[in-house]
Amino acid sequence: MATFRHRALNEAASHQTSRYFEEAGPVSGYFGRNVLDLGKMKAYMSPKAYEAVLASVRYGAKLDRSVADEIAEGMKKWAMEMGATHYTHLFQPLTDSTAEKHEAFVSFKEGVAFEKFKGDALVQQEPDASSFPNGGLRNTFEARGYSAWDPSSPVFLMDGTLCIPSVFVSYTGEALDTKAPNLKSLHALSEAATAVANLFDKGVNAVKVNLGIEQEYFLVDESLYNARPDLMLCGRTVIGHTSAKDQQLEDHYFGAIPSRVSSFMKDFETEAYKLGIQLQTRHNEVAPNQFECAPVYSEATTAVDQNMMLMIVMQKVAEKHHLKVIFHEKPFDGVNGSGKHCNWSITTDTGVNLLSPGKTPTKNLQSLSFYASVLRGVYKHHFLLMTSVATLSNSYRLGGNEAPPAIMSVFSGSTLYRVFQEIMGLTEAQVASGKQESIRIVNSIPEIFPDNTDRNRTSPFAFTGNRFEFRAVGSSQNVASAVYVLNSVVAESLREFKAEVDALEASGEDRSSAVMTVVRRFITEAKDIMFEGNGYSREWEEEAQNRGLKAVRNVPEAYEIYHDPDVIELFDSVGVLAPNEVEARFEILNETYVKKLQIEARVLGDMCLNHVIPAAVKYQNVLIENVRGMKEVFGEEFMNFCSAEVGTLKQISQYINNISLDVETLVEARKKANRIEDIALRAKVYSHEVKDMMDKIRDSADRLEMLIDDELWPIPKYRELLFF
Ligand code: ADP
Ligand code: MG
Repeated sequence: MATFRHRALNEAASHQTSRYFEEAGPVSGYFGRNVLDLGKMKAYMSPKAYEAVLASVRYGAKLDRSVADEIAEGMKKWAMEMGATHYTHLFQPLTDSTAEKHEAFVSFKEGVAFEKFKGDALVQQEPDASSFPNGGLRNTFEARGYSAWDPSSPVFLMDGTLCIPSVFVSYTGEALDTKAPNLKSLHALSEAATAVANLFDKGVNAVKVNLGIEQEYFLVDESLYNARPDLMLCGRTVIGHTSAKDQQLEDHYFGAIPSRVSSFMKDFETEAYKLGIQLQTRHNEVAPNQFECAPVYSEATTAVDQNMMLMIVMQKVAEKHHLKVIFHEKPFDGVNGSGKHCNWSITTDTGVNLLSPGKTPTKNLQSLSFYASVLRGVYKHHFLLMTSVATLSNSYRLGGNEAPPAIMSVFSGSTLYRVFQEIMGLTEAQVASGKQESIRIVNSIPEIFPDNTDRNRTSPFAFTGNRFEFRAVGSSQNVASAVYVLNSVVAESLREFKAEVDALEASGEDRSSAVMTVVRRFITEAKDIMFEGNGYSREWEEEAQNRGLKAVRNVPEAYEIYHDPDVIELFDSVGVLAPNEVEARFEILNETYVKKLQIEARVLGDMCLNHVIPAAVKYQNVLIENVRGMKEVFGEEFMNFCSAEVGTLKQISQYINNISLDVETLVEARKKANRIEDIALRAKVYSHEVKDMMDKIRDSADRLEMLIDDELWPIPKYRELLFF
């Protein structure tokens, strides 16, 4: 048992179950310990400084530099009492991860050390940022990028460092991150939604977005992970034959959590609680070794920031457990991939969930206005929304038979669906009758009694009683990039809703009837996006095509939507991204796609040449020796006894040959693509030529895995990676 794989298997077997981050007492005793929330801030600064922070958090008021020093001093005091030595602006560049550059509090003057943290350092930093993706917004010689504190998200401690959630912008002010456009989209949505809400209630001053983010992930033993170059470098397996048993018995979903995993979960939950992350659920997912956790929903920026923190915490805690957390959307072929469902709702500052059907017809008119606007926005920009989750890694997941298809549709649930049908005049109004009744028309406005249990897990965008669940988002993504698109789309639609109602009112229609007219118009316009059936089925793909719904079939081709004038206009009009920022994102998306695929292709080539073929040749030689011996013993008759070995030998030789030639072709395809100057074109060529060749190579490698002596196979197999 000399292979790396066998050593890794031995090591993995020795990994123990243990707790490393236990805290005494109930969670309430340490929840939020590492966060400087508003309550704590009050104790660390003067009332004036605190008021300034409060105004900034609540109304986005600009922080006056005169109080910034005092706020910084208060933060430093708290952080140092908690044992911190450094601070960092934590930002979310266009890489789907976070970035941090730690600065020490300690300063030196004439050899004497003292701690310092000034307002300037709190409010703004200038990381040497030349190597973050910028899509041409910044030349390397003008590399300055600024990170600026986002006071709407509280500062916190991690690893002895005071972390300051920040936006990241270029020298000339363009966004280089996902946070800045998200904040802008929340603002745009708040304005547009408030205007519509004011049609029904003048007392509404702001509308906020709530997000509940469900995080799916896989766990793999660290030793096995380290023995797989593809997992290490790409986050997914580029070769590997499926395991005889995987998820077909459906025995993992909601099953008993293995004790090693359970210890890990408890540990990361403890660390997450200290960061104020309101984790509430944990369970086994469908695929073996796949799991999920979800916090209680919170305001969008907090939810996004906390999800990013959660991913970091999970990775860090996993190290102690000799585990690796795999956030990739499709780490293993043949079993389910991972998503990050975003539960999205909007509530007023008066505490009303605008997507909750109300108790009175007037309240329903309000929620109908919002459903209609969401529906129409999602319909109008369905392809853009799908593209907002289109990444190389998510493309391996979407459209598989167990994940949402890459076609946008909205599931409304039977109650709402019927209401919509009636509004469009497609079905007769239901007359009140006993228990089944769900809708009643009062003065031509439907009354709705929703059935919250109505679920459809095959829909990429589903209404679940008082929120929409965007299920196509990928598990490794920073959800902000999907959420700001959704917010923008809805904001645009709400603006148009309001304008149309205003116009009708101006022409003399009364408000209720004006609203109902626009609701009907919006729903009718958007009717093709509504789909209540099985989103995983073939029939739906055909039906969707007939309805003119565009599917994301090829990721770089989908990115062309960012050149669509309607899309550029959308982002510009809601103030979320200027045209040059959209273009920069287009470049970055293509660049990232190419780079990731390039890495995968290289890793595949390396693994084939360095692992697969050498192992295959070894076994080929064993068989050759055997056949030669048989011939010696049996002479002319030998083929009567070893036709199987000879057959296997032929197959192995054929696959070795195929792989060698195909890897060469793959390298050539890559080189040819790399010479293409235009990044968008290069991405397209990669997506066809490089990807197709990779599939072909994988097929040969996986067949070899089945033919070769298990003792000789050098990399951990699926059955070993997928079961604890
Ligand atoms: P399921 O897997 O059945 O969808 P989960 O409990 O795993 O349910 O996740 C549901 C998520 O939706 C949680 O994060 C929850 O807090 C969130 N959620 C519940 N109500 C709302 C709401 N009104 N707005 C946004 N998110 C919500
Ligand atoms: Mg869910």
